[in-house]
Amino acid sequence: MSTTSSEAITDQPIGLATPIGLTAPSGIDRAAHHRLDEAWLAAAWSHPTTRVFVVSGGQALIDDAPDGRTELVMTPAFEAPVTETHRYFLGTDEDGVSYFALQKDALPGRMDQSARPAGLREAGLLLSPRDASLMTHAVALENWQRLHRFCSRCGERTVIAAAGHIRRCPACGAEHYPRTDPAVIMLVTDEHDRALLGRQVHWPEGRFSTLAGFVEPGESIEQSVRREVFEEAGVTVGPVEYVASQPWPFPSSLMLGFMAKATSSEINVDGEEIHEARWFSREDLAAAFDSGEVLPPYGISIAARLIELWYGKPLPKPTH
Ligand SMILES: [Zn+2]
Repeated sequence: MSTTSSEAITDQPIGLATPIGLTAPSGIDRAAHHRLDEAWLAAAWSHPTTRVFVVSGGQALIDDAPDGRTELVMTPAFEAPVTETHRYFLGTDEDGVSYFALQKDALPGRMDQSARPAGLREAGLLLSPRDASLMTHAVALENWQRLHRFCSRCGERTVIAAAGHIRRCPACGAEHYPRTDPAVIMLVTDEHDRALLGRQVHWPEGRFSTLAGFVEPGESIEQSVRREVFEEAGVTVGPVEYVASQPWPFPSSLMLGFMAKATSSEINVDGEEIHEARWFSREDLAAAFDSGEVLPPYGISIAARLIELWYGKPLPKPTH
């Protein structure tokens, strides 16, 4: 086994106890130059090593392998249910295997006893970086296709092109590309190294997390961090440091994670998005987890990882 520098790439912040879901290198080359090459796509589709999975409503089938790993259920193209589907080309791996997703109105019948449908929030915790990346790509394309069926220039119905990565308007000729909405998510700390955590109005009692919001037109991401924190919690922010990003196709976000330094400490929540916000020391938060006053964050969201990066150790697992 050789060890090359590329194998050492992790895309994970140093000091993080738990990896950031959906962010690790996938080993997949998206090979975008093949998307308009119908002859290449046809040859790739019919190649015996090609693997195909179905995505429907943000879900795909996953299964537990005999060695305990969880995998996307993939089949050769000749076994794939191709009728009335959109076909997305997702890329190739280092062995030359091509991957496609089929978007259908429903998932196929379960392949065996253990295969089960899962959304990305669950599957993203279980799958390998390769499979998680393939599913994220497919879910993101599916969401975009579903929500952008009509031309935003002239209103005509658009048609799928470029193996799922373009929609073309037959009336005015416009080409529409998949949309990604940048959002900032930030852990704000004060001069005492306490963390600012908030509870959104629709969250249950005890659920606190980082603040977050969408980047607005004409705004830098640093400006967006400062604006969102001030709007939601009334706290002013100075230095902003980028940590990591995470694709978040629910339906089309890219979460940009930051650590940010507060320059004021008085909290004044907006009451519209954030119901309550508090400064927590590490001891405060540990005690609040112990007493059940604060629920440990869970799932694949980068929010939990940003909190963990400050907390300095893995967060407790939720007990429910
Ligand atoms: Zn048009």
